Amino acid sequence: MTGVVLNNVVKRFGDVQVIHGVDLEIEDGEFCVFVGPSGCGKSTLLRMVAGLEETTEGKIHIGDRDVTDMDPSERGVAMVFQTYALYPHMTVAQNMGFGLKMTGHPKEVIDSKVGEASRILKLDPYLDRRPKALSGGQRQRVAIGRAIVRGPDVFLFDEPLSNLDAELRVEMRVEIARLHEEIGATMIYVTHDQTEAMTLADKIVVLRDGRIEQVGKPMDLYRDPDNKFVAGFIGSPS
Ligand code: ADP
Ligand code: MG
Repeated sequence: MTGVVLNNVVKRFGDVQVIHGVDLEIEDGEFCVFVGPSGCGKSTLLRMVAGLEETTEGKIHIGDRDVTDMDPSERGVAMVFQTYALYPHMTVAQNMGFGLKMTGHPKEVIDSKVGEASRILKLDPYLDRRPKALSGGQRQRVAIGRAIVRGPDVFLFDEPLSNLDAELRVEMRVEIARLHEEIGATMIYVTHDQTEAMTLADKIVVLRDGRIEQVGKPMDLYRDPDNKFVAGFIGSPS
């Protein structure tokens, strides 16, 4: 079981509290989407699950493991960012395999995992290219491929498509939905795009000022938002 559970999670930067006691259960294999206005704490929550930010108070469990104070590399998570952060001097295959190489995996294992990820993401024709010879969509595929290669229990996406043009966003959204179907891992996905939230999510979490405003299935929030704020994000047609 690799669900994610947050218990009364608090984050303070110095004296400023930005997350105010968040309780949330994400089930094993669930696709959970965080939405909310800029600055409401979406990235901070995600980074606490990843271990890139310390949790000030509260507990975070992944499966039956308390990961609250664990090193990021031990949590079984992989994060995909808005900026792809690929190594320019490495090929696509080297970029995808780099994490495994650093942790001392043998070449056969790396080649097999990179092969599997490139099949899922249709990157086979590009394995020997460098990032500058790829389109934005292909670069984001490589960044996702790098996460797949690590075989995480939980994928964390922070607005992964917001640098892409509208057409590519639709294409990549479909790819991400297919990825979730194929590998079935738990995914937490931050976006401010209503269509992405409605089409990808099993569960949507609406955040406001570091608190959860409402949690529910997309159509339940759409039909029955608790208030105007939630309706503004989910209920109203864009
Ligand atoms: P979102 O991703 O929803 O736009 P963030 O999680 O990035 O929001 O930010 C939530 C709040 O925390 C904002 O007020 C932001 O300014 C603040 N914040 C984020 N990171 C830091 C940091 N490293 N130091 C101080 N304040 C931060
Ligand atoms: Mg953010």
